[in-house]
Parts: sequence; C-alpha cells; structure tokens
Amino acid sequence: MTRRLPPELQPVADSLAANHSYLWRTFREPGVTCRVCARPTAQGMCEECDSHHEARHPTADLVGTYVYAPYRTQAYHVAKSYKGSRPGSSWGTMASLLAVGLRSHRDCLMTLSGSRDMRWAVVPSTSGRDGEHPLKKAVREFAFPDRETVLDVARDSTDHRRFDPHHFLPRLTEVPDSLVVIDDSWVAGGHAQSAAAALKLAGVRYVALFVVARALDPRYPSTKTFLDQHTQQPFAWEPCPWTQDGICPA
Ligand SMILES: [Zn+2]
Ligand SMILES: [Zn+2]
Repeated sequence: MTRRLPPELQPVADSLAANHSYLWRTFREPGVTCRVCARPTAQGMCEECDSHHEARHPTADLVGTYVYAPYRTQAYHVAKSYKGSRPGSSWGTMASLLAVGLRSHRDCLMTLSGSRDMRWAVVPSTSGRDGEHPLKKAVREFAFPDRETVLDVARDSTDHRRFDPHHFLPRLTEVPDSLVVIDDSWVAGGHAQSAAAALKLAGVRYVALFVVARALDPRYPSTKTFLDQHTQQPFAWEPCPWTQDGICPA
C-alpha cells in the first residue's frame, strides 16, 4: 500500500525533490547494496554490518538509511554542516529530510514494530559539544514533538566508532516497548548500532534506526564502481525507507 503525506509536509517533500537534485535516495537490491545500510556490496550484507551481526551484542531490529552522501558532495556537506556554526541552507535541508523521512512512513514503522507506543531518541554527540544537539532540536520541532528518550554518553567510553553498547547510557524511568533511534550520518554504523544495542540491553523490545545520510567513500573500488555505473535514484518521499523493496507494509 502507499502512504499519504500529511498535507503540511507535501510542499516540503516537493521542494526536496525539485530543488535538491544531489539527493539520491538509498535503495536495497540483492547483489548491489547491503540489505541493512544500503552501502554498495555484492554480498547480502556489507563487511561492516556483517561484523556488527557477528559481534556478541544485539543490533537494531530495523535500519532505515535515507539518502546517499558520498564524500566531497553536496549531500555530505549538508549532513556535516547543518550542525556547524554557520549551517546556511543545510539546516533547512536536514530538517526537511527528517520531517519527511520520519513522518511520511511513521505508520509503516508502527506496523513493522508491532507497536503503537513508539518513543524516539537521538544518538548523542560524542564530541563533547555544549548545549542541545541540533539534530535533537530538528527532530523535536519537525518530526516528533514528544515521547523522547534520552541517551547519555558514558564518561569512560573511548573509540566511539567501535561497536560497543557501553558507549551509551539510556536514561529510563520506565522501559519503553519500542523506540526509533535517529542519527544524522552513517559511516560504518558502529555509532548508531551501539546506541541501539544499549537500548536493547536495557530491555527495549524493538529498536529501529533512522539515519539520514549514508556516507560513501569512493576510495573503495566497489563504491566507486557503484557511483560511476549505477543510475542514481532521485529523492522521492514515496518509497518506504523501512522495507527492502521500498513498498510500504500492509
Ligand atoms: Zn551494511
Ligand atoms: Zn512506508
């Protein structure tokens, strides 16, 4: 089935599609991209996702990565600069992607999770920034007004790219049944999967990850070939970010 966009989001989605030709939506295709993170790979799962699944920690039940962000491209710039001191138009683009990506297929996530009681959390910055993370502000303002769960960075954690649930401490007064964890970019996925694992170990039954930008490094031969040869798919809100084939669950 196809979802309908909330009316106030239609102009936002139209603007993303019309004015941001550098935004390519991720897709999952066996033999072409990883079924978890949408990185180019001839295997079912890329080596990074494979290593997360081989580790002894739990991983997210569902991963949605939204647009490709190859290094040194405008998409990558947006995912980095929206949280800087001079974000320019990147802030609006990031907020639009979060609003459209999270809200247009929220029912799909509810269906797949089997829960109507979904909370959200943002993967906290491990760089020790002051003040509220801009991603959290964008999610609260444009995607989900309430139902936030807070994750803290463990004081003694190091090497945050490594997959280790002990990087994060969920602040839980009660354990939610299900939760979507949101991050701005996915490089190898260790950061986001660590947050998901921390929540699973705290007792959350179902954890989904939504990551706006799937960073790609063209120095990997398979990635360069993918970028050179594969027809890129322009941004569109209709394909479901939560399913392998982009078709919404019934
Ligand atoms: Zn992967
Ligand atoms: Zn959907």
